[in-house]
Amino acid sequence: MKKQAFFSRPPEEPSHIAGLQSDKFRAQHRIFHCPPTESKEYSQVPFDLIPISHNHHYSHEIDTTSTKRVHAQGLGPVAVYKKFPRFWRSTPRVQLQATFLLLMMGLLSITLALALCSGSALFPGLSTTTVSVVAGAEVYNTFDGPGFPACNAVSHVYRPSTVDEMVEIVKNASSQGIPVRASGNAHMWYDTMCSDDPETIIIKTDAVNRISDLELNDGVGSVMIEAGATFPQVAQWLHDHGAALGYTLVNWNITMAGAIAMGAHRSSLREDSQVSAAALAMDIINGKGELIHIEKDDSDTWLAATTSLGLLGIIARVKFAVQADYKVYANQTILDEDEVLGLNGDYDIFEEVSPYVTANYWWWPGQKKFHLRTYGVVPIETSGNAFQSTFSVTPFEGDTARNLLNAGQNLSLPNFVSEGIFFGLWSAPNFHDKQTDLPLLFWPVKGWSYDVLIGGLYPNQLPEWDYDLHGKTLELAVPVTQGQALLKRVRELFDEAAADGKAVTATYRSGINIKFGKPFDSFLGQTTERVGDVQADWSKGALMFDFPSFVPTTGDHHRYNEEWYAKLATTLINEFPVRPHWTKNTRSIFQQALKNLDQDSITRFSQVRKEFDPDGTFKSIVGEIIGVMD
Ligand SMILES: Cc1cc2nc3c(=O)[nH]c(=O)nc-3n(C[C@H](O)[C@H](O)[C@H](O)COP(=O)(O)OP(=O)(O)OC[C@H]3O[C@@H](n4cnc5c(N)ncnc54)[C@H](O)[C@@H]3O)c2cc1C
Repeated sequence: MKKQAFFSRPPEEPSHIAGLQSDKFRAQHRIFHCPPTESKEYSQVPFDLIPISHNHHYSHEIDTTSTKRVHAQGLGPVAVYKKFPRFWRSTPRVQLQATFLLLMMGLLSITLALALCSGSALFPGLSTTTVSVVAGAEVYNTFDGPGFPACNAVSHVYRPSTVDEMVEIVKNASSQGIPVRASGNAHMWYDTMCSDDPETIIIKTDAVNRISDLELNDGVGSVMIEAGATFPQVAQWLHDHGAALGYTLVNWNITMAGAIAMGAHRSSLREDSQVSAAALAMDIINGKGELIHIEKDDSDTWLAATTSLGLLGIIARVKFAVQADYKVYANQTILDEDEVLGLNGDYDIFEEVSPYVTANYWWWPGQKKFHLRTYGVVPIETSGNAFQSTFSVTPFEGDTARNLLNAGQNLSLPNFVSEGIFFGLWSAPNFHDKQTDLPLLFWPVKGWSYDVLIGGLYPNQLPEWDYDLHGKTLELAVPVTQGQALLKRVRELFDEAAADGKAVTATYRSGINIKFGKPFDSFLGQTTERVGDVQADWSKGALMFDFPSFVPTTGDHHRYNEEWYAKLATTLINEFPVRPHWTKNTRSIFQQALKNLDQDSITRFSQVRKEFDPDGTFKSIVGEIIGVMD
């Protein structure tokens, strides 16, 4: 008896199953449900089924001796097969031709399988030494790992090492109608990177990371970076060459191209802080696999490319503005919540934040306090080697925090205790001296620009998610002039939860992050001044309400008073003209917030998208929700 063993998904991945059951997928595939621990017989099933999904945890065994019957014994809830072509049930002659065709395809499959094993994958033009491949329909996870999908099902992950190889992969994929998404380091929160098409391939860009062509005259200039170069890589390279990035930064180990694609930003009302504001030119691999060079100008193409959501294609290279290296200080003060909310008299958030090159608040609702963090430039000869870390955690800290926060899954009090501890820790500088690795104890701290503005990981420490400290987040931008009103509304919702006996608070080590963005014009950016039916004045910039919260590792992973988080999001979307951050929100948030976006900008974006990618090779869930894939 010929047996074919393959694997299906574990039952605890309902989002994946939902993805496999999309209308389009169901139209193309036949799906057999195989309940856990039972065995089932399926009749009238053709023998040359193609198993689509697999996973290392669960298996089905298929008896393929019969063309009429498949015996599936499995532990997973679904086994999925490509629909058998109609002509198989046709005349004997056609069947003969089909058999010949299938034999040829079988031979081809073996050849391809061998190619896969040797690392060259589906695309023979690529060098076997430089392209590594992960094959099979798998979840592609975010930085948070298993349980946190960025794409629910992808068929391959390619890791090329040159722009030419990326071009080749896109060319081959698009000619076969295979969807493609680029990924840097998967530093995003939800399953919105790809569409739900399990044929999707990922081009992981991190090995395409050359940095070159630095030009610096009279303190300003540019540098050329490739798709996978991360902020810390570029910052270190520039520092070694006497140059630096400005304030168009994001936290952590993120690719600059990925940040440009998604309209990511730091926090400033005075300086440009959306990363794409510093892009001067880009090379984009379009839907035909052509490398298109575009330069900064007033065109619709540039307005689309500066928050492209990856829908124009893969940003392969960026010419990025830089400046002479500089030093900065960081300072932090504690404010009463009533003061920031304007309950003790006038408090103008714009006036407080706009003087600084970068500034943000961290809100601790359980403590009724805010931290205000501010940064400014100091003379280059100023001493100090401060190095910031937002995410470094020792094993003791990680384990203690996880245990405490898990205790708050079904009880409110432990969450308030955790928040109190986090607030105390966050009041001291989250900085070490870069040379000695000793903690800095007093504000302000000073050092080289990138080290102070962003920094990285302390030696011998791991980021918090490596201790199973994972989060969900919600990030919405509101005109800064309505920022205080939004924060007051959030306070009302906190109070309502407390009155209902289910008090909620901040469960993330840095509280609720309140950031800011100077206006920057791109069709889909969070800080554009373009408005549609929902009128609002964005001319003074935006306040971003970024509310990360701990996801318990226990039970069904719900957060305490889970339904309150949905109520919070819906209330803010309905009562304020808020716009979503493109990688920090769920599908539901995008659907709800769509009414706040400018339809004219969406239409013009859509036209540019069609020019770059007429067949929708780079489709994504976000693109589908906002209606630009038609
Ligand atoms: C710990 C952490 C801190 C963060 N801090 C900030 C912050 O301070 N400010 C902020 O605004 N955001 C922040 N983010 C969000 C982050 O900036 C974005 O999610 C960013 O897009 C992630 O970049 P990545 O390189 O990891 O890309 P991925 O997460 O791999 O991809 C994100 C999206 O960009 C697309 N994409 C990636 N590379 C390319 C490319 N070369 N061409 C076209 N499309 C591409 C992908 O297809 C996907 O849709 C943070 C995220 C994390 C996890």
